[in-house]
Amino acid sequence: MIVMKFGGSSVANTEMIKGVAGIVKSQVKKKPIVVVSALGGVTNDLIEAATFAANGSGTKKCDEITGRHLAVIKELGLGEQIIGDEVSQLRREMEKIGAGRNLNQKSLDTVMSFGERMSARIVAACLVSVGVNSKAYDAFNIGLVTDSSFGNANPLPKASSMIRRSLSGVSGVPVVTGFIGKDRVGNITTLGRGGSDYTASLIGMAVRAKEIQIWTNTNGVLTADPRIVSGALNIRDLSYEEELELEYLGANTLHPKGIRPAFEKNITVRVLNTLHPKESDTVIKSRINEKMRVASITHKDGMHIILLRAQDPPKRLHDVFDIIRRHGISIDSVLTSRTDIMIIFSGYYNGNIKDALKELGSVGKVSIRSGRAKISVVGKALFSIPGISGKIFSSLADMPIEAISYGSSGMSQSFFVKEQHAGTAIRKLHRTFFGA
Ligand code: ASP
Ligand code: MG
Repeated sequence: MIVMKFGGSSVANTEMIKGVAGIVKSQVKKKPIVVVSALGGVTNDLIEAATFAANGSGTKKCDEITGRHLAVIKELGLGEQIIGDEVSQLRREMEKIGAGRNLNQKSLDTVMSFGERMSARIVAACLVSVGVNSKAYDAFNIGLVTDSSFGNANPLPKASSMIRRSLSGVSGVPVVTGFIGKDRVGNITTLGRGGSDYTASLIGMAVRAKEIQIWTNTNGVLTADPRIVSGALNIRDLSYEEELELEYLGANTLHPKGIRPAFEKNITVRVLNTLHPKESDTVIKSRINEKMRVASITHKDGMHIILLRAQDPPKRLHDVFDIIRRHGISIDSVLTSRTDIMIIFSGYYNGNIKDALKELGSVGKVSIRSGRAKISVVGKALFSIPGISGKIFSSLADMPIEAISYGSSGMSQSFFVKEQHAGTAIRKLHRTFFGA
């Protein structure tokens, strides 16, 4: 048994969906369980439509979304009725939101669920049309029970055995909705944005799959963001730990929470390109042969650096952490020197930064630099590579680096620069380590 997960970009339009059906058909002997995301962009569109409805702007946007699905169904030569129930339920949900002029996370989860519910039905019907016995399943009807943390729900421990039981009796290829579940009392929940990976690995774990395939729009995991480095290369083998480190440092290929269950059960994860199924892919597993190499260069924008000039900085760290914690800022790195404390954090904090800075003023003279990027060189045995630091520093010799941090994992070294320098820095490092 294998799990094949197709993300939004893989099912974005009629041609892509036909491609997906072909890929699944070619692996039917491996007994695939297919997991799908919503058609590319649909989750965002549904959120927008719900927001419009809540503002009293009606259901026009919602009708555009269902119209897009119906057009795909028509182009595939299928019958509109395959999503008939979903279309009318979604409309009713939007009307309810419009009438109440109120949108909360709970109803937003219900609205978002329709993206995956419609795409699963379309993909299953398309499979049937190419001669593969298939049926769509809503994950919540095959045992994906979660807690009630709407927008970011966690599967309950019993979900795994329930999923295994439900899927054991199924014939043909099940196409399961990614991203969604239901809580104990039957409210629809979502697992957090990008959560279809999570569904794929939960199912993989439940059925003890031989492999989980994540089908996406790049040739596996790459040595850098292809939007920045046009010659970014495929990474053949990656260890679980490296993948988690890459995600933590901004790679955004797999859902970090999502892929962990697969790793825990030692299931091989393979990342492949839906548009070019025969081209290079990436195999992620517990052990890799080649460790003494740089795996990838990652980056994260939207970082801020707080500089605090204080008397005896080490003694003041306790107060500083207390203030930072109270203002809900989650720290990325902390550096200290004889005269200063540097606190680095990413842009997505909940707290009020102005208030935090004011309070920090009681510790010492405070200033903030925003619009910084964190660039990281990642590799399992990074610090055992002979001459690694020399190579990194000479590549960045003329770059204005503002801070450096060594990943305590021993697998990464990171630099902070102004966002406008990030592209150049990444390209220089990439040329040094990958020659492209
Ligand atoms: N459709 C959901 C999202 O856009 C889940 C996913 O694609 O994994 O976040
Ligand atoms: Mg994704």
